[in-house]
Amino acid sequence: MNGDSKPILVIGGGIAGMTAAVEIAEVGYNVILVEKEAYIGGRVLRMHRYFPKMCPPTCGFEINVKRIRRNPRITIHTLATVEKISGKAGAFRTTVRVRPRFVTGTQPIDEAVAEKMTSVRDNDFNYGMDKTKALYLPHDMAYPSVQVLDRECLSDADTQALSEVCASGAIDMEMSEKELEIDVGAIVVATGWQPYDATKLDTLGFGQYPNVITNVMMERLAANGGPTAGEILRPSDGNKPENVAFVQCAGSRDENHLPYCSAVCCMASLKHARYLREKNETSKATLFYIDIRTVGRLEKFYYDMLEDENVSYIKGKVAKINEVAESRNLILDVEDTLSGENLHEEFDMVVLATGMVPNTADVKIPFELNYDEYGFVDGATDVDGIYAVGCAKRPCDVTRATKDATAVALKAIQCLDGGE
Ligand SMILES: Cc1cc2nc3c(=O)[nH]c(=O)nc-3n(C[C@H](O)[C@H](O)[C@H](O)COP(=O)(O)OP(=O)(O)OC[C@H]3O[C@@H](n4cnc5c(N)ncnc54)[C@H](O)[C@@H]3O)c2cc1C
Repeated sequence: MNGDSKPILVIGGGIAGMTAAVEIAEVGYNVILVEKEAYIGGRVLRMHRYFPKMCPPTCGFEINVKRIRRNPRITIHTLATVEKISGKAGAFRTTVRVRPRFVTGTQPIDEAVAEKMTSVRDNDFNYGMDKTKALYLPHDMAYPSVQVLDRECLSDADTQALSEVCASGAIDMEMSEKELEIDVGAIVVATGWQPYDATKLDTLGFGQYPNVITNVMMERLAANGGPTAGEILRPSDGNKPENVAFVQCAGSRDENHLPYCSAVCCMASLKHARYLREKNETSKATLFYIDIRTVGRLEKFYYDMLEDENVSYIKGKVAKINEVAESRNLILDVEDTLSGENLHEEFDMVVLATGMVPNTADVKIPFELNYDEYGFVDGATDVDGIYAVGCAKRPCDVTRATKDATAVALKAIQCLDGGE
């Protein structure tokens, strides 16, 4: 048993996948963690702070990375996806595709060459709000701490310059895609979520008016490693917004978009109002909501925010956002359902609280699994030996995701021993 058993495959290296991996490995079983990005940590790492305690996510991340580093039972493949799965509980055969990083990580990169490079790419870590060089570290805390080369946006001059330094062994322009066949005993699906595409909300102006942003962008504006080094600034002119609207349920609980509630957006917007108020004490925040959903002990966070007189709450679903041409301010049309009044309120910036879409809505796990109508892996009908956790299963916060991961670690281990 234990070290001699087949490993457990974890698909997705966000907080749920990392937690499952360390829990499994720390009781003596081998784990293969497959992450499609060049780094592990998932969406939580892109938050400025996380509720309820408002700690920087890097704290929890560092602890998990320490646990991973000291545990030889965990093997991580980044830039990797699972292409095929066959077999059954206790005996799955999987094919993992690993894309090339072009940086070996075994030798230091000549800084002078990296410095001179001019090719740039959209910084997806910051939701496209700034650029990185084509040779980049995804973020300051990236694990593995190895740069990535985006060859697709490399100019001819940069390709030439990098080819000349390949001999040092730091860069390998010939690195190619690999396919690995891996036998595993159980599989944990921790593929998480992506933000709902706000450009589909055609009355709310995202993509049309620069000062309409989304909740995930707000996280990056507030973060020190973000595009504005932690200052919350209006995209149109770089000024500090004084009066910000938060539009709840932007597309959520709406039959035309996401019919379900994403469970965390109310807390996320309250947290964003707090970021704003902490960074600019004269600022004002207004939340437009259908109802505020802060369950259990999270309610205290809401009650604390109610004490701040610069934060107001209007019960009503925002129908339309228009831009004021000169100032690039935004006018929100909304019916205040408590007073019955039709409001046309002006703000400097608007944050849309968009919901969470499962990554499995687009890319399915290559095995016959059950999904609900929105693409979440249906936890109630788990296939033997394959278990979903965190936001792969339903929208949830970090506490729920890690509890799930710990519970599923046990299920996966039990299935391993049963399969032997
Ligand atoms: C605006 C906003 C703010 C939030 N703030 C908080 C907060 O303050 N506190 C809190 O508790 N929660 C917060 N949440 C919720 C939190 O983000 C989730 O609970 C958390 O991300 C769930 O983790 P996860 O591991 O399930 O998913 P993810 O974080 O999405 O991680 C999934 C991982 O799987 C990888 N992956 C996806 N598909 C594949 C594939 N096919 N193959 C390999 N890898 C794959 C992804 O790249 C990613 O690394 C917030 C959510 C939003 C929308």
